Formats: sequence, C-alpha cells, structure tokens
Amino acid sequence: KNFVIAIDGFSSCGKSTVAKALAKELNFVFIDSGAMYRAVTLYIQQNKVNIENEQGVLDALDNIHIDFVPNPEKVQILLNGEDVSDAIRTMEVSEYVSEVSALKPVRKAMVHQQQNLGKKRNIVMDGRDIGTTVFPNADLKIFMTASPQVRAERRFAELGAKGEVLTMEEVKENLSHRDHIDSTREESPLRQAEDAIVLDNSELNQEEQLQFVINLVKE
Ligand code: C5P
Repeated sequence: KNFVIAIDGFSSCGKSTVAKALAKELNFVFIDSGAMYRAVTLYIQQNKVNIENEQGVLDALDNIHIDFVPNPEKVQILLNGEDVSDAIRTMEVSEYVSEVSALKPVRKAMVHQQQNLGKKRNIVMDGRDIGTTVFPNADLKIFMTASPQVRAERRFAELGAKGEVLTMEEVKENLSHRDHIDSTREESPLRQAEDAIVLDNSELNQEEQLQFVINLVKE
C-alpha cells in the first residue's frame, strides 16, 4: 500500500517548506493542494467569472485542467498546459483565493483530483483539509502552527523577495482574512484532525522540523 502524509495548518506556517524537504528526503511526491486552489482562482480572475453564479463556476471548473510537473526543487503547476507557478503567488490571487476555495463545487472538484493524485503513489500533501477530508486515513497527519508574528514575517519576506510592495499590516490582514474564511466555511473547514500531531515551528529551524517529522515516519 502507498504511504500518505498529510500536513495541514493556517496560512504561512511553513507547511510547504517542511513538506517539500520531507518529500525529497523520502523520495515521495510532494503535492501542494493550495497551489490547485490558487490556479482555480487565477482562472476565475482571468476569465472574469462571477463566483455568485453557480453555473458559471461549474462551467469554469469544466474548463480547468491542473497538472503538476514532477520537480523536486520547485512546485511547478500547469493550468491548461501553461506554467502558472509564479502567477498564482501574487497578492491579487492571495486576496481572492479563500473566497473561491469556500465554494462547494470548487472543493468537490479539487478534493476529487487530490484523492486521485494520492491513490497509487507515496505522497506528502499540504493544505487545510488534507487530514480531515481528503485523506482521513492518512498514515501520518501533521498539524503545523507558528506564532502570528513569525507567520507574518515569513510571508512579508517571501512577497518582498518577489518584488511585491506591501506593508507588514497588509500582510497580516491578508493572513487573518484567509484564516477566518478558511476556518469558518461550511465545506471542509480548516481544523486539526483528532489524530494529527502538532508541530509548532515558531522556535524550530528547518532542519529541526524535518527531523521531527522524519522521526514520526520511522515510528
Ligand atoms: O497553501 P496556500 O496558502 O497557498 O493556500 C491558498 C489558499 O487555498 C488558502 O488560504 C485556502 O483558502 C485554500 N486552500 C484550501 N484547502 C486546501 C489548501 C488551500 O481551501 N487544502
């Protein structure tokens, strides 16, 4: 049987950094589920789809095809064949992605695709509802947390490195906006699975975080 590791938590807790390093170490496939919701959001923005119109959203989903390019160094994601790895990381997408992710048809389609991606391969998948909804029977579930200050600083540095001009206040506001919608939406809200192990990384460096998870895998 294949091995599934689910890593969930609020925005900018360092999930994907740990997930990527872990996948590399174990030679598993890393799947960034947030990138999928971001790609859907990008499509909706580019095509000016009104998300209040359910049929419009369903039609958009019919026209969206998402692929991952296996690449251990970087998450490369294709939206209808086009590499959107950078385009999905802008603040414009971040500001709308939680609204789009709360739509039931969007969740249904993404969860289905995520489950298919994890059917045969050994995977590490990070997101918000992986251990609760996508893979409730995952072999290992991690719930990551970090202090709001650490999260905001991390996000601020990431966006700054990409040349986005933002204040720390704007970054904090976007994180709390997404946290709020992600944890209060009706369909598969973000919450900690009962059998998840908490990893608080406020005080841990990347090497220590990786070691923590590797020890759990070995148990
Ligand atoms: O992981 P990342 O921060 O890139 O995710 C972007 C957004 O996608 C989240 O704020 C959330 O709204 C949505 N998301 C989700 N379920 C997941 C992964 C991400 O709703 N499993």
